[in-house]
This record gives sequence, structure tokens and C-alpha cells, in this order.
Amino acid sequence: QFRPMQHWPLTVDKFIDHAARWHGQTEIVSRGNDGMVSRTCWADLRLKAKRISNALLAEGIQPGDRVGTLSMNSADHLAAWFGIMGIGAVCHTLNPRLAAEQLEYIVRHAGDQIIFADAEFAPLISAAAAPNPAVRRIIWLDGDGPEGLGAFISPHGEDCAWGEFHEDSPAGLCYTSGTTGNPKGVMYTHRSNYLHTLMAMQPDALDLSARDVWLPVVPMFHANAWGLTFAAAAVGAKLVLPGRHVDGESLYNLMEAEGVTVTAGVPTVWQSLLNHMDARGVNLDKLTRALVGGAACSQALYLAFEKRNILVQHNWGMTETSPLGTACTLTTNVAALPAEAQLRQRLKQGRVAIGVDMRIVNERGEAMPHDGRSPGFLQVRGHSIVDTYFGAGRSALDADGFFDTGDVATIDAMGYMQITDRAKDVIKSGGEWISSVDMENAVLMHPAAEAAAVIAIPHPKWDERPLLMVKAKPGCLISEEDVRQHLARQFAKWELPDIILFVSTVPLGATGKIDKKLLRDRYATGGVH
Ligand code: ADP
Repeated sequence: QFRPMQHWPLTVDKFIDHAARWHGQTEIVSRGNDGMVSRTCWADLRLKAKRISNALLAEGIQPGDRVGTLSMNSADHLAAWFGIMGIGAVCHTLNPRLAAEQLEYIVRHAGDQIIFADAEFAPLISAAAAPNPAVRRIIWLDGDGPEGLGAFISPHGEDCAWGEFHEDSPAGLCYTSGTTGNPKGVMYTHRSNYLHTLMAMQPDALDLSARDVWLPVVPMFHANAWGLTFAAAAVGAKLVLPGRHVDGESLYNLMEAEGVTVTAGVPTVWQSLLNHMDARGVNLDKLTRALVGGAACSQALYLAFEKRNILVQHNWGMTETSPLGTACTLTTNVAALPAEAQLRQRLKQGRVAIGVDMRIVNERGEAMPHDGRSPGFLQVRGHSIVDTYFGAGRSALDADGFFDTGDVATIDAMGYMQITDRAKDVIKSGGEWISSVDMENAVLMHPAAEAAAVIAIPHPKWDERPLLMVKAKPGCLISEEDVRQHLARQFAKWELPDIILFVSTVPLGATGKIDKKLLRDRYATGGVH
């Protein structure tokens, strides 16, 4: 048989093999949940992963079986990932910020047989796994006892064959946080993760290299830490994993000590880092780039980083897109724009890289123009985008093979996509749409505002009207009149909120974003009118 090119299945064990062989001594720094910093390297992490594989095989784990992890970002969590995936089992990342009932549903639905967990989540995982006989063992990643990782792998050697299965085999499983209905499982394949990693590494996507020192604040249980841990292995970068301490001061200390050059997280974590740096009058000289995604990056956040010579790169994606959908990097034309016009582009969610195609359509499914003004439902297709949710009877795609993201967006003539809202968050007032995201961003430009959330409240005449919640910065006071005047500069009178509430906290959901479902339950249905 004529085979013009080699057969090289696209499986993720190749990332760690590559890192170990060609960047073997490059460090992985991990701060435990107890605050202790430990160091390993790609070569040693691979050997530990091999022993985890052997221990799983000895437990009878077969290709396709699901093995859960309930852990913060750490080297041992990463070793577990590669140990699970290397033998063709499925690494199911569980989110410790979920309630026990939701976790129980997910563990049962996934059919997890063994779960690697951080000791501090013992009460949570015990509650979630106990009623479920399929869960045979819980191994404590940072525990010393007989059920600790050390004891689990100590009888096993470092020799274990990885890969050599079909690249379409499942590798990972991640559930959406289920802001509507039950959580849905997105099952990544080796091929989809491999191709996603190649896409993410590109200069016009996340731009990763062996010269970088990476600190993903975004958790490994949140859509594979945006693919950054795979990519770090694929390029052989130094990786710094922060564990559970991701408050401003802890992050600052770790970044400073380890010379972190690029970091990534949702907007809410950055505010606390910036507050810490402001309060101490300190800077991070080596940090060149902060990737922001998961929720819209406000202009205020962008400018606060820029003032410190840290470039903010805005990205959009979701669990269903592995998760990178768009990245905001500059085309030649945008790079040549005057500062203010360029900033407007940089605050958009960006452009697609090869491997993702997108379109915006109206309620009738007709394509909307790329004029930067006409919003439509954002739909995507590509090599790392969900087709059928785990256990679902039918494909989630439409007749053209597109997946509807549930987001509403515009696309401009230069190909930059901007999320104007989630379809379920948009405020539909008298037939017009008011973007909750635009209004929140506008409020955040007020120097005394720390957080803002806009939700729709039902209205007998207009269907829905906006309700705004504002949290002031510590020690600052803002009046309602002040907020109204501030917003009136940018919004028409009919768009201004009917109600403005001042709150001391804004609730965050399981992925660190403002929990609008909770706010709607609390305010919109309770009738604040
Ligand atoms: P969930 O937030 O429900 O856990 P995901 O983590 O998959 O689910 O989040 C995906 C959603 O987050 C997107 O559909 C979009 O609404 C929102 N999102 C992600 N990145 C951005 C961004 N840069 N700007 C605005 N919204 C974003």
C-alpha cells in the first residue's frame, strides 16, 4: 500500500513527550493550596504521568472510561491529565465552585469511575460522589495517606505505552455551567485538542512560545484552562500554576518571583491584582501580556493595564469551542489606525484564526451584514467546536453545520467580532435591544465604580426595562444622579436604567463571572417595581 506521508495520529500525549524530550529541564512551578511552592520539570512531570497511567490500568481503567479531576491548577493535576489521556481514558474536569447537587448530577451523568481531588474538596466530593456506586476510588492529589497520590502510584513504574489509538478518540470532558437547564457535557477528542493547541499557539491567536513564562489563572477545570496547559507543553514554556490562592496579593507575589511574562483570566481576577498593585505602588516589569476572556474586557480594565505597560489581549470563547473562538490581534490596517480608533478595535472580541468560521444571523436565520452595527446571533463551526453533547441523542448543529453560541454579536468590515450580549441577557425594550454589556462597560468608566451588572426586569408596556446594580470601589461614594449623568453621555434617554441599586457585593458564578441568573431570580422576578 502506497503511503506517501507518515501516519502520525494527533493525540495529546505527543505534547508532553515533546516537552519532556526537547524542553525536559524547563520548570513547572506549582503553588499548593497550602501556599507552599514546589518545582518540577517537563521530563519529571511526564514520568509521574506515566506512573499515574500504570496505576489507572491496574485499577482496570479502559480506553473511553471517564476519570474525574476536582483540583485547582497544579503540577500534579496536570500529571493526572496526561496520565489519564495517554492511555485513552477521558479526563473529566470537575468544577469545585459548583454546588454538591450539581456536581453529583455531573459525576453521575459522566459515569466517572475514579476521581483525583484536592484534599480541601473532600467534603464537597464526598457529598457529590457518595450516592453514586460507579465512583470506585477518590485519590487525593495532595494527600499523604493510603488514598493519596503517592501511595496510588508508588507500586508502579515509569514504563507505559501511550497513544497509538485513533485520533478521534475522546480525551476530555467538560460540562457547561448550566446557566439554563442541566449542565451539558462537551467531549473533546485528541484530534480536536491537538488542532486547537496548534491554532492557539499562532501569533495571531494566543501567540505562545518557549520564551514565555505562563501563569494561567483561568482554572484547568474551565474549558482546559483555555488550552494553555496543552499549549505550554507543546511549546515547552515554563509554566507557573497558582493553586487556589488567586487574590491580587498572592498572584502578584508569584508572578514577581517567577518572572511571569504572560497570564490569562477572567476580568474579575484582574481587578484584584490591579487593586493590590495600586495599593502597594508596585509593578510587574516582566509581565508583557494579560489575556482576558470569559467576559467582556472593559475599557477601564484595558487602560489600567496599559498604564503599566501590560498589553491586554481580548479573547472570546466558550466550553463548546475548546474554548478559543476569537482573539483580538491586529491586522495591518488596524495597527495603522490612530490610538483612539485602534483602542475601539482592541476592545472587541477579535478575529477568527484558521480552524474557526463564524457568522451572525437574524431570527429568520438570514446572514447579517459585516458593518459593525447590525447585531445577530453568533454561530460558529470548526475542528474544535462541539457537534453533539455527551449523552445527547442528537447533534447540536443546524442544517448548515453551525453551532449557535447563544451570544449576540456584530462583525465589522475588518472582520472584528464584538459581543453585544448573551441572547438571554439582552434587554428587549419596546422592540429595541439594549446591550447590558455596553451599559456595564460605560458604568465601569466611572472612576468610583468597581463592578456593575445590568439585567432586564419585566415591564407591562415595554416588555423589559434595564435594572442596574453598581458596586462602588472601597471608600468611594457614588450617587444615583451621578451614575445617570455619566450614562446620559453615551446612552439615549429611553435606554437609561429604570432602577439603579447600590450593592456591596455582586455575586459570581462558578466560572468567576457575574451570576446574572441569580440576579434575575433575586430582582427581576421578585418585582422591585
Ligand atoms: P459559562 O460562562 O456558562 O460557564 P463558558 O465558560 O463556556 O460558559 O462561557 C462562554 C460564554 O462566556 C460565551 O458564550 C460568552 O457569552 C461569554 N464570553 C466569553 N468570552 C467573552 C468575552 N471576551 N466577552 C464577552 N463575553 C464573553
